[in-house]
Order: sequence, then C-alpha cells, then structure tokens
Amino acid sequence: MSARAGIVVTGTEVLTGRVTDRNGPWLAERLRELGVDLAFTAIVGDRPQDMEAALRFMAERGMDVVLTSGGLGPTADDLTAEVVGRFQGRPMVLDAALEERIAEILRPLMKRWPDLDMDAIRASNRKQAVIPDGATVLDPVGTAPGLVVPPAEPGGGPTVVVLPGPPRELQPMWSTAVETQALKAALTGATTYRQKTLRMFGIPESEIALTLREAESEGVDLDKLEVTTCLKRGEVEVVTRYEPDRQEVYEAFERVVKARHADTLFSDDGTTVDEQVASLLRGAGPPERSRPPLTVAVAESCTGGLLSARLTELPGSSDYFKGAIVAYSNDVKIAQAAVPPELIERHGAVSQEVAEALADGARTQLEADLGVGVTGVAGPGGGSEEKPVGLVWISVAGPGEERLTRSVNLPGGRFDVRDRATTVAMHLLRRALLAETPAAGLPHS
Ligand code: ATP
Ligand code: MG
Repeated sequence: MSARAGIVVTGTEVLTGRVTDRNGPWLAERLRELGVDLAFTAIVGDRPQDMEAALRFMAERGMDVVLTSGGLGPTADDLTAEVVGRFQGRPMVLDAALEERIAEILRPLMKRWPDLDMDAIRASNRKQAVIPDGATVLDPVGTAPGLVVPPAEPGGGPTVVVLPGPPRELQPMWSTAVETQALKAALTGATTYRQKTLRMFGIPESEIALTLREAESEGVDLDKLEVTTCLKRGEVEVVTRYEPDRQEVYEAFERVVKARHADTLFSDDGTTVDEQVASLLRGAGPPERSRPPLTVAVAESCTGGLLSARLTELPGSSDYFKGAIVAYSNDVKIAQAAVPPELIERHGAVSQEVAEALADGARTQLEADLGVGVTGVAGPGGGSEEKPVGLVWISVAGPGEERLTRSVNLPGGRFDVRDRATTVAMHLLRRALLAETPAAGLPHS
C-alpha cells in the first residue's frame, strides 16, 4: 500500500481563476515521483473555515499527508499556519531563532526602502515567526517559512506540509520538506510506482478505447495497471502507472498498443514531439547515419508567430532556430517571404501553392536548411465553402530537395485551430527530418 496524500491550494485569486493554479499540478507530479498516491486536490479561498473544512475532509478520508500552498505571508489575511496549528492541536508559539532569521532576510530590503514603517515590519516579521509548537521549520526562500506539522497525537491524522503560494518559493521549499524527518516518517511504506507514457498523433481517442478492449480480450489484465488516456493538443497520450512487479503485464499491454498503432505512435519514452524535433535538428539519429546539425526557419500566416514561439520554447533553441517571418498580410508574404504574387492571385493565400512558397521563402530568405510555411483560416470569420474555417496548409521544405505538404481541417475555435496547427507543423517537421534516417523505422505517409 502506498501512502496517500491530499493537496489544499489556498487563495481567493486561484479559486476565482484570476491566477491559474501552478502548485497543485506541480506537487501532484512530485508526489507521483515519490510513489505517493494523490487522492484529492482542493482549492479554497482565503477563509479559515473553508481551509479547515478542506483539512477535515482530507483527514476523514485517511490521508497520510496533506500539502497546503499559499497564505503564509505577513499580512492579516495570511492564516494558513494558524489554521493548521489549530487543526493539529498544537498551540502557536514564537520561534525566536526564526524571528531573527526573518529579520536577517528583511535587513537588505529595509535598506532599499528606508521610508518604510519599522514597527509594522517588525510586527509582520514577528507574525511569520509564530508557528505551531513542535513544527519543523523549512527555511524561507522569500520571507515566509514553510512548516511540517505532524498531529499532536501520534497517529492522530495526517501530517500537514505548509508551503508558500508563489511557485518559485514553493518549489525549492518542497525539496527541503522531503528531506525532513517529520515528512519521511509520515511517508514510510510508500510504494514506488513506475510510469510510462505512449504518445500518438493523428488518431481519435476512441481508437485507444478500442485498443484497451482488444488488449483485455488478448488476456492483458488491465486491472493490474492504471491506464489513463487523454487528448492533448491533438495528440493522444496513454499514461500507465503500475507497481514494479507488474512490469510484464505492462510490456504485454505496450506490445498490443504498438502493434495496433505502429503508424501513429511517435513516442514511447516520454519524449515530446518538440524534444524530438530539437534533437533531430541537432543531428541525432542512429550512429551509422550521423549527420551534421540542421537549422530551421518559419514563414507563418494564420499562426501569427505561435510556431516560432513553440520552436524557441526549449532552452538552447538558438542552435537550430534561425528566425521567422510572420507573413500575415499578402504584402508581407510577397515582400518578405518572397511569395510570387501571381500564386496568391491564382490560388488564394490559403492554398497548397502559397504554403509551399512560404516554406521556400523562409528557407531562402533566412538561409536555413529547412523552411516551414503555414497558412490557413483560423476563424471565426473568413471561411468559405471551398475553404472553411479550420483549413490549414502546412509545408516543410528541405533539408534536401524533398518537400512535405499537408492540408488539415482542424476543429474548434480560433484558439484551437491556431494551437493545433503548430502541433501539425511540429509533426510534419519531425517527419521531414526522419525521412533522412529511415533506419529509425518510423512511419512515412
Ligand atoms: P506571500 O508572502 O507572497 O503573500 P503567501 O504564501 O501568502 O506568500 P499567497 O498570498 O497565497 O502566498 O500568494 C502570493 C502570490 O503567489 C499570489 O498572488 C500568486 O501570484 C502566487 N500564487 C499563489 N498560489 C498560487 C498557485 N497555486 N499557483 C500559482 N501562483 C500562485
Ligand atoms: Mg499572501
């Protein structure tokens, strides 16, 4: 049996959606790595009763640990430490060493703003040093210390780990929390799970549902695995979690998936298409076919720079990304991306011919080994019977004489069409790069 955990994310700004929760998902991933079973995440506003109710909910369902985020600051509405202290049956006490530690952190700040009210600062400094008796203090990254607070009675409920709201403070403090005796004690007996991810492109999610049924009928005991499938940016992701002694069951399952989806499965090792494109551009491939690194440039219309943004997301992308022409108007397509005006006149801006000319233009104008052209109807207006909203033409020219061009009819609104078009472009780019290395045994179509 693995340890079970709950997460309580606090903050009215998160509850109302003004700030998107980055702590819950991040902590969920860390818990999984530790082999801790996350059962619930609750999001509550900055109200002590609601925070307490969430803690009670987690305790009643037998969680071994509860992680909280937010509400640790120096202001009066930051109440988490107090609520947790009361919940765990521990009186609040002033930690003198901690008070001094926080004063030290504040000193340089006070020098920068000499007009601040010293008494108010001393009071808030002191407030942050008042902690539940017997709690383990996690050194602050900002000014707020984190806490590991076991229940007053051993075995009397979950150990609560109190972390600050700002993600850049929470993340390093979580690493500190994991090393404390107090948290280790609460997590003993955690099983380490394995997790594998398979990614496919170009199939509907219903196909995977069918594959799961087929695996069952071929005798793979799916009850022994925890399989979740989801559709993400146009890709189907199959994530399987299992206990180490069920490796064989997983392998049998993976064989069924690979057999049924050989032509669309592009990742079985957790890599994303973005990472694969990056490493292919860097020259990765089977050793016997090693080749020099390549560069890529983009001329994009309907995606308005999104593809370039995506190609520069990974650190070090300057090794292979040369630049982009956001060729939104026909004038710019002609003047900057060297698209022959008669092609636009004859075929329209959204056409195979113009997508190919954009790819060529990106390649020649920006002196890259590969050029990518994107042109489409993002909507909601501008569609016609012949060229409906969602029609996108994408072309990849290079690295040699080859060219890959596809049209797709993407579903959804303007956001989805533009986002999905970048995914299709990444996959087309991947195929263009793999065409040089057929030994990798990957599909062509
Ligand atoms: P502070 O000392 O900064 O007040 P705190 O622990 O009291 O720290 P909060 O007041 O809850 O934290 O949040 C401070 C800010 O941190 C929020 O305004 C928000 O910008 C960010 N933040 C808080 N919680 C989250 C979250 N779950 N996801 C992303 N950002 C968050
Ligand atoms: Mg705060």
